[in-house]
Amino acid sequence: HMVTIRYADGKGWYEPRVEARAPIPMDPASAVLHYAQEIFEGLKAYTLPDGGIAMFRPDANANRFAQSAQRMAMPQLPGETFLQSLREIITIDRDWLPPGDEGSLYLRPFAYASEVFLGVRPSMEYLYLVIASPVGPYFSGGVKPVSVWVTPDYTRAAPGGTGAAKCGGNYAAGLSAQAEAIENGCDQVVYLDAVERKYIDELGGMNVVFVLDDGTLVTPPLTGTILPGITRDSIIKLAERDGRKVEERPVSLEEWRSGATSGRIREAFACGTAAVITPIGAVKSADGEFVVADGGTGSVTTSLRKQLVDIQRGRASDPFGWVHRVL
Ligand code: PMP
Repeated sequence: HMVTIRYADGKGWYEPRVEARAPIPMDPASAVLHYAQEIFEGLKAYTLPDGGIAMFRPDANANRFAQSAQRMAMPQLPGETFLQSLREIITIDRDWLPPGDEGSLYLRPFAYASEVFLGVRPSMEYLYLVIASPVGPYFSGGVKPVSVWVTPDYTRAAPGGTGAAKCGGNYAAGLSAQAEAIENGCDQVVYLDAVERKYIDELGGMNVVFVLDDGTLVTPPLTGTILPGITRDSIIKLAERDGRKVEERPVSLEEWRSGATSGRIREAFACGTAAVITPIGAVKSADGEFVVADGGTGSVTTSLRKQLVDIQRGRASDPFGWVHRVL
């Protein structure tokens, strides 16, 4: 199915519908096709031990969607409307949820400029939609470390750019960098900052966290060039609750390389909705390759992953009220 809600200046959001999923007719002059005024979110619905269905922190996705809308000069969809649209698609598509406690129903809310107008200015009409798609476990047969390619040329976002917004254009701009990573035998691309070409920003679709030898977590700060990941935020809150020190500060590629060699950086992992937490094994760049000290199977990474997945799946208590039960 799909949820659709229309927007027009002067009228606001109107005509909410849940209907069979079908192609959307589009005029060739629809603004989004030319200027990419589009934003989206991604989250999962999954089965709880008692058979209920839940989402993880959908209010955080609603907030980020609102932030993205603001950056892209789009109208604000009320948070409650966003949440209600997710509940509706889950309810109507619940038979698509894969059985077992590993699979999930991926939810994709998005909005785009639908006005038929070729001038460059914010559209006066938008369409908001939600679609859902079943996904299996990200790792079948155990969590495997990923290898990453530090791209020498491409950047994800510069200061003042759209790095903190979840807009389609960011991902279009990242396709060449991801292709370069694959050509270099790596699974994922890592971006350096656009100004000094020195500090780690994030992966193509995940944030990065380092674990120091004293157990401290270090992760790049949210200065507007990286996506404020909800998984990143959850890990910080869990770690702090456990009395672990967390530093949000720039980490240079050089610090990573020397730390991995000396043992000061003991583990590194990437985090995001799709994989939750993925250990990083090998790091390849134009200047050569190194392996994160533990080769990617660190105990802190493993323990944080288990804690987070157990809360999500309703197997552990939920001290922060993150699990949002739908059915
Ligand atoms: N960075 C980028 C560029 C992403 O696309 C994602 C996935 N949404 C993330 C980080 C991780 O964010 P989250 O934990 O909210 O999935």
